[in-house]
Amino acid sequence: MKTFNIPTYYRSPIISRVKAIRSKFDKRKKDFTPTHLDFGNVEFILGRHFGFCFGVENAIEISYKAIAENPDKRIFLLSQMIHNPGVNGDLENHGIQFLQDTKGNQLIPWSEIKSDDIVIIPAFGTTIEIENKLKEIGVDTPRYNTTCPFVERVWKKSEKLGTDDYTVIIHGKDKHEETRATFSHSKAYAKSIVIRDIAEAQLLGKMILGDLAESDFLQTFAGRYSADFNFKTDLTKIGVVNQTTMLASETQEISDYLADIMLQKFGQENSKKHFANTRDTLCYATNDNQSATLALLDQKADLAIVVGGYNSSNTSHLVELCEQKFNTFYIKDEDEIKTHNVVHHFDMHKSELLESKTFIPENRPLKIILTSGASCPDATVDRVIQRILELTNTSADIELALANIKNTFNEEV
Ligand code: SF4
Repeated sequence: MKTFNIPTYYRSPIISRVKAIRSKFDKRKKDFTPTHLDFGNVEFILGRHFGFCFGVENAIEISYKAIAENPDKRIFLLSQMIHNPGVNGDLENHGIQFLQDTKGNQLIPWSEIKSDDIVIIPAFGTTIEIENKLKEIGVDTPRYNTTCPFVERVWKKSEKLGTDDYTVIIHGKDKHEETRATFSHSKAYAKSIVIRDIAEAQLLGKMILGDLAESDFLQTFAGRYSADFNFKTDLTKIGVVNQTTMLASETQEISDYLADIMLQKFGQENSKKHFANTRDTLCYATNDNQSATLALLDQKADLAIVVGGYNSSNTSHLVELCEQKFNTFYIKDEDEIKTHNVVHHFDMHKSELLESKTFIPENRPLKIILTSGASCPDATVDRVIQRILELTNTSADIELALANIKNTFNEEV
């Protein structure tokens, strides 16, 4: 895979070397077993895959290139580059300004943007309406467009479904930048509707079977369906796509459920004509990170730490998986670890920051599951490791810990 030129402070002395060792022994990325980074007193059990993905590195490379190439110009980002506070903060420190917040609220009026300003499109992509607005102003948007190709792939799939006369069911978070962009691109070609979860798929199922009234549809999905959507005629041929960072198992559940609804409505013979058999549109990074996290669930550990921005969709799903087995702490960086006992962490179910006063248990050796989202720099994970080693008075013989990883995989190959 292509390597990107990103600031060295996002790389890390520990995690980068761990990943290099794993890649050396698993070039085809088939082995999802965790990595044991053992410091004796404390052992970190790392997911096989985590951290910066292709789309994020691409976006970061282009953003810093825009800064370097345009020292005399104003540079704007449509919204957060990725969902990581450290990366966005660093871009702001380099003079980049955000035009909108993550929910699409305007922070700087369009009227202030001039044709010679630089506007960077983030990895999530943007809506056709915003693309057109920037074109009207005369901004050269293709120059610094960091839209991830895996997001564009979803748009293409939606277009294809629309061309074949299917309505597109988008499994995603309707306020998320990527889903707003996908909805916009999808509705240009197809009747489209955004659903959040399996509960909403079930409501849709009832509507398809005629068990719910139009008023329920209009109320439940207000603002999340395309213009002139007719819930009687536009739900007879459907296909599912998703936000690239959703939980794979939930998208599968939704697809299976809706396929079964079409079978009930149209019968075995005809159901295939009414349900497009699309595979999910998750990106490779979401699939790899979720599979690697599922492999962590086979391990025994005292706690789990997931590092990432609190508005990061892909990170939240890793937390959801870890919570199935471990006492899990979702932290944005090492600064959230206050003392041996006290940690500030995010409760994504209630959307609130919590303070826990029981963090690191006393038993030794301590085993900690550790992973991070696709927008989290490895350097941040390194600093979390260093902070825990410091709080547990563990001497960090990194060379020995890395040599042990090499020995493990040497023995296996
Ligand atoms: S998580 Fe996937 S879709 Fe999103 S930027 Fe990364 S590679 Fe692209």
